[in-house]
Amino acid sequence: MVELKNRIAKLKMFINGEWKDSENKETRPVINPANGEVISHAPEGTIADARAAIYAARKAFDEGVWSGLPAQERASYLFKIADKIDEYADELTHLETMDNGKTLREAGFDVGDAAACFRYYAGLITKPDGYTYHVADPVQAMVVREPVGVCGLIVPWNYPLLMSVWKIAPSLAAGNTIVFKPSEVTPVTPKKLFEIFEEVGLPKGVANMVMGAGPVVGNEIASHPEVDMVSFTGGTKTGKHIMKTAADTMKKVSLELGGKSPNIIFADADFETAVDYALFGIYAGAGQVCSAGSRILVEETIYDQFVARFAERAKQIKVGPGNDPSTEMGPLVSKEHLDKVLRYIELGKQEGATIACGGNRIVSGGLDKGYFVEPTVFVDVKQEMRIVQEEIFGPVVVIQKFKDEKEAIKLANGTVYGLAGGVFTNDGAKGLRVIKKLRSGITWVNSYHPTYNEAPWGGYKQSGIGRSLGTFGLEEFQEIKQININLQVEPIGWFSN
Ligand code: NAD
Repeated sequence: MVELKNRIAKLKMFINGEWKDSENKETRPVINPANGEVISHAPEGTIADARAAIYAARKAFDEGVWSGLPAQERASYLFKIADKIDEYADELTHLETMDNGKTLREAGFDVGDAAACFRYYAGLITKPDGYTYHVADPVQAMVVREPVGVCGLIVPWNYPLLMSVWKIAPSLAAGNTIVFKPSEVTPVTPKKLFEIFEEVGLPKGVANMVMGAGPVVGNEIASHPEVDMVSFTGGTKTGKHIMKTAADTMKKVSLELGGKSPNIIFADADFETAVDYALFGIYAGAGQVCSAGSRILVEETIYDQFVARFAERAKQIKVGPGNDPSTEMGPLVSKEHLDKVLRYIELGKQEGATIACGGNRIVSGGLDKGYFVEPTVFVDVKQEMRIVQEEIFGPVVVIQKFKDEKEAIKLANGTVYGLAGGVFTNDGAKGLRVIKKLRSGITWVNSYHPTYNEAPWGGYKQSGIGRSLGTFGLEEFQEIKQININLQVEPIGWFSN
């Protein structure tokens, strides 16, 4: 562990194939949320640093050092990256826990998924794509897919490695060059990923990483005319800002944003399965998951029984440092975020909701220096309350009551978000009927949360635009070109002379 700490004591950015400090040498401390310790210092990137990365990516793209490679060669780099992620899995897992706070178990899954995601896109990029068309003229019409160009990739702190990979793997597979910005809160595993890129010998300028503040580095990426696309994952408010900023240069925009996702439990569901998944839906990742099932809607005939059992189980969740193998739920990512979640808990009380369990910061048992919050349940909530409408992004759930299918759907769709949703029932037709009415991009029946590299991920309404993962996730990073080849080469004769 000491060796690991020494290795990350001072981070650097990766620009044009070289490790760099910030141009003005400023740094920002990186904190372990389980104990408040400074574990690293990251460069505080500037506009000049962002521009250097953008120019490097532009040059690499225009010279075709990456897009000009046969797809098979690009794929072979991606396969090597996946192998290296596996090789460093233990290190990456521990670093993720140290930086983000998530449990080793959670971090381990993320690392495995990250390797699988690179392999998925390495395989996909060599598969057939494009179309041909039977048009009216003696013309062979077809469509080919091409890289967009320089892609700006901006990610949040809740899955520091995996959210990076969801963008980097498809964008590189498609032949783009990238300027990537990790969250200023969690730059550690992204830095390790870029070490891997160096190790496998990605050509200079293809993958660039600039650390630093969103309004500085992120804003420069979103506004710079030499960036062709911005792909962003983060809060809805930031996403709106990025969309407006990117509009001036008409960039392609892809946005994966926040959620307040409903998890609907019907009385005919398998009761213990529903309780179990509902707990997983909200408390995995300490609720810091975009798709978290943060609104549980329960049919009125089983409501009291459900709340009692759910609260009983929630109280038993073992909260602690992520690196303790017995821990089931880690801390929140930062002091700032802890304060935000605690403010929401206070707000819920002021709005008149009742706490069925939890509701406090945990300071006993040696956890006082970390950012731990009890698994919290609010009942007696009304649809218009802010704790029902707004994304809290912590271990806080509201449990609402509904009387029939129609009311469940109305409540479920009654926020500005539309990211995810679940339905628990033993009636197959009802399950599908309700899912089809949900205005959400990712849904589950008798399950909650599993995510697959093969299937598209993204939201309706204010939860975003576009999709990650699967073939849709690759297409985000591609332009479509129409090609028409005249098969009868002779003058058209449109004008008389
Ligand atoms: P955030 O919006 O504060 O920050 C995300 C990234 O944007 C960070 O890298 C940040 O530095 C950058 N940023 C901030 N201001 C910027 C600006 N003005 N211009 C450009 N970049 C800027 O989000 P967060 O707090 O890091 O992450 C939590 C949010 O992410 C939650 O809302 C969660 O739902 C969302 N999220 C969504 C998905 C999804 O797939 N839909 C996945 C993970 C997280």
